[in-house]
Amino acid sequence: KINFGAGPAQLPLEVLENIHTEFLDYNGTGANVMELSHRSTTFDKIILDTERYIREILTIPDSYAVLFLQGGATAQFSAIPMNFLNLKPSATADYLVTGYWSEKAAKEAEKFGNINLVVPKTSKYQSVPAEDTWKLTKDPSYFYYCANETIHGIEFEDIPSIIPKDVPIVCDMSSNFLTRPFDITKFAIVFASAQKNFGASGLVLVIIRKDLVEQNTNKSIPIILDYKIHMANGSMYNTPPTFPIYVANKMFDWTKQQGGLKGMNQHSEKKSSLVYETIDESNGFYVNSIEKKYRSRVNIPFRILTNGVENEKLESLFLSEAIKANMIELKGHRAVGGIRVSLYNGMTPEETKKLTNFMRTFQTNHS
Ligand code: PLP
Repeated sequence: KINFGAGPAQLPLEVLENIHTEFLDYNGTGANVMELSHRSTTFDKIILDTERYIREILTIPDSYAVLFLQGGATAQFSAIPMNFLNLKPSATADYLVTGYWSEKAAKEAEKFGNINLVVPKTSKYQSVPAEDTWKLTKDPSYFYYCANETIHGIEFEDIPSIIPKDVPIVCDMSSNFLTRPFDITKFAIVFASAQKNFGASGLVLVIIRKDLVEQNTNKSIPIILDYKIHMANGSMYNTPPTFPIYVANKMFDWTKQQGGLKGMNQHSEKKSSLVYETIDESNGFYVNSIEKKYRSRVNIPFRILTNGVENEKLESLFLSEAIKANMIELKGHRAVGGIRVSLYNGMTPEETKKLTNFMRTFQTNHS
């Protein structure tokens, strides 16, 4: 079956097969990776290789730590303000809210101090207000945004250009991580949950400037959310998510074999173009209401319309016929309804083509 779910998401078959081969006996240990001590030399090699692979893929300099943590991206929503909200005398962080996930992050951060919302609150996320209307704090502790809103389907092609160079930029890349190139040195922190583009839930990758971590003097942070502790212990303060780290190792290796970020970027462009072309050529049968500049290449929500009105019955039929055609997990998030196509790295252009063929046939049969 082809799984278009928003995550945990489909992984490449060859990666799953490789894991399957090693399942009962990892590398002659006679054990599964999940049965090995995180302090064993075998696991030590796995985590060190995993870090080496991701450093190679993203060209991460030594001035950044790569942390393999638990608690998902959601734990970072709390950890980031706890560690860094008071980094500067302004004791204020700027949050750009462009959808469900950045809204959640901002709401969590408000528990810990002053949060400035850069753009006005809205319930309808279809675009991003022009940068020259943003209300930025002078010398904030950091600027936070989400590179790709998984539910609303809003993605930034690049870092907002209006942010001054000396402001630490914090970015939630959970859903578009490794789907396009980016320059890590422009960020202070990039974090991403694994279950979309590099494996299994239970692991979040945090790439963070070491000097920033050193600057934090807050002693009252719960130990499990303290980046300084994790950095000093090489992500091994407590038991890390060993099996998801092993899966990430396989996924990063696979990503490298696919041509790294360049290869993934080409795939992402191809897959999303197929879907958007089908939507745009449907004469208003399929509608994606995001401003074109901010259309996500990874999560594409759309509605089905008849006579210009959303037709939930037809959407239900679309979903049930898709399942019969072996295409699953296409239901839109409850916050926005309709259909959502997620095109993470484990999805091939060929599989995406099957979906767009299905969409075209469905339209012919039902319009
Ligand atoms: N941020 C984004 C952009 C997401 O898509 C998600 C989950 O879908 C999260 C954060 C939350 O991740 P987790 O469930 O791993 O905490």
